[in-house]
Amino acid sequence: MKEELREEIIRLKKEKNAAILAHNYQLPEVQDVSDFVGDSLELSIKATKLSNKVIVLAGVDFMAEQAAVLNPEKIVLHPEKGATCSLANYLTLKVAKAYKEKYPDIPLVVYVNSYLEVKAISDYIVTSANAVEVVKRIDSPRILFGPDRNLAEYVAEKSGKEVIVVPQESHCYVHSHIISKEDMILAREKYPNAKIAVHPETPKEVRELADFIGSTSQMMKYACSCESNQVIIGTEIGLVHRLRKECPGKEYIPLNDAAICRFMKQITLKSIRDSLRDMKNIVVVDENLAKIAKEKTTKTYELVGIKL
Ligand code: SF4
Repeated sequence: MKEELREEIIRLKKEKNAAILAHNYQLPEVQDVSDFVGDSLELSIKATKLSNKVIVLAGVDFMAEQAAVLNPEKIVLHPEKGATCSLANYLTLKVAKAYKEKYPDIPLVVYVNSYLEVKAISDYIVTSANAVEVVKRIDSPRILFGPDRNLAEYVAEKSGKEVIVVPQESHCYVHSHIISKEDMILAREKYPNAKIAVHPETPKEVRELADFIGSTSQMMKYACSCESNQVIIGTEIGLVHRLRKECPGKEYIPLNDAAICRFMKQITLKSIRDSLRDMKNIVVVDENLAKIAKEKTTKTYELVGIKL
């Protein structure tokens, strides 16, 4: 069945002039049928470079929305409408406005894991790959940052700036509640020669025990190039599949086998096939908000020397 679906998707991609962009947390079979696999930053840049008329974004909803914002001339499909992100849902427009009113002189930096209406009232839009560098370059000693209290704390540590989390309770349930300090201690005991790489959305007590902290693209590079032949991966388990495929010859071990994002895993071969075949779940964004968010994304990327 999987093979039939896979073949049908490959045929439909040609027929519709479509490319599939998959996030690192997607199911192995979804990654394998995709044209490009990456993190939020890589996917959004890649989407702007493709000549395909149709982009299928295999990831959660804010990623598909971001692809539509950056590619108004393309048709962006999100195969599973219900594939949302519980972290992004913490930062509602109401919450963002309330913080802006309370701190009118402090720039609002939003994580890409947020929705268009919030991005449109922000000052900068960052990913976990560029958040620290962007914040360092913003001309203000204090910033509002959200959503994600752990990433915000990490950005504050690395940038030396005062960071106010928007909202205080925002977190990713996979990185914050499934991955734990106990996992780190057990991994160190079981694999004393291994290196451990973790995502900055993990809590401080986890980050403190890691050899490397970075976005999934940065973890990929580190795991591939570090001197150890055994690397423990402290993020959603989907990244392990990509590492085994693209950087073979080393042992990659999930820090916690249960670190599975139930939202990311809603995208399946069947939902991709259905969406492509029927051209359904086309992402529609407000043109005006999209224009504003695109300008803010471009301005943020320029700050760190990336041209979209
Ligand atoms: S892993 Fe966390 S941040 Fe990523 S999509 Fe799932 S809930 Fe959202």
